[in-house]
Amino acid sequence: MGALFADDANPKYVFLFIGDGMSTPQRMMAEEFARKVGHGELLINHFPSHATTRTVSANSLVTDSAAAGTALACGEKTNNGRIGMSVDGSRRLESVAEVAHQNGKKVGIVTSVTINHATPASFYAHRPSRSQYYGIGLDLIDSNFEYFGGGGFGGYADNTKSSAYRGNLYELAEKAGYKVVSDPEAFHALKPGDGKVLARGCEQALPYTIDGETDVPTLEDFTRKGIELLDNPNGFFMMIEGGSIDWCGHANEAATNLMEVLALDKAVRAALEFAQKHPDETLIVVTGDHETGGMTMGFAGTGYALYVDRLAKQKCSIGRFGELLKKARSAKEDFDFDDACAMLTKYF
Ligand SMILES: [Zn+2]
Repeated sequence: MGALFADDANPKYVFLFIGDGMSTPQRMMAEEFARKVGHGELLINHFPSHATTRTVSANSLVTDSAAAGTALACGEKTNNGRIGMSVDGSRRLESVAEVAHQNGKKVGIVTSVTINHATPASFYAHRPSRSQYYGIGLDLIDSNFEYFGGGGFGGYADNTKSSAYRGNLYELAEKAGYKVVSDPEAFHALKPGDGKVLARGCEQALPYTIDGETDVPTLEDFTRKGIELLDNPNGFFMMIEGGSIDWCGHANEAATNLMEVLALDKAVRAALEFAQKHPDETLIVVTGDHETGGMTMGFAGTGYALYVDRLAKQKCSIGRFGELLKKARSAKEDFDFDDACAMLTKYF
């Protein structure tokens, strides 16, 4: 965890960045990579204040994102799976975003994965289970927060199987006064005065950074837009999650992982630019919620050499490679092992 410009006891502008599944190895791997390829150091590793914290949940040594998100948002440990609810799932816990909103601050929630996923949900929803994606979406609309950005509801907007179903979530959001935006042009055109905004770059998570060239807005874009839309005389609270760091951690994809950490670092740089204009009124906190993937750096078999620059040769995520391979196989009838090897060489 690192914090910047924390000298004011009651900052007007608060940024809370959460790298999901981002612990020390993910940060350090990204840093070594950035240094090796000439990008220099990571901003998030060079904040003036640092601390480590114990991330156990109320019922497990290894927290999940729901219990960790709830602890970060509400200041109380709970069981894995709970979203803004107490250990037994009976008591609603108030989040820092809700307190900020009650105190007249505008609130923004941004993520690179789906907006109803556990980490962002912990700041606006109250559900005994993280898998209640439709109900979490209803809580999003009820929160009345000014800005939601990143992925969409992940295919749950029309989940008629939910016992709470009362209509398409995007339509319900519009009825509740949200400007719902799903194409890049409309996103970039958003401006202060547009009112409450629910902006998605995709229905699912945003594409991995390593998969490159796309017109889908990035985590940095969603952060910059949040600053533009939320800035007001009462200040704002914005939570920005680098959610896909966790997803490629689960998949043990080192190159994809470090690119996502770098994408989060870029979003933090956008906040830093804002903080430099409002130095005595801005607090930036960057943290993780838990580690994912058991990443280590160097081992005895390589004489503790890291070879991190070799990861620059990887051109796409494993998921994207699978799609490309499938396409190549269906395009060529006698696609064989040598063809597959040539593709591996090209992309890795
Ligand atoms: Zn997590």
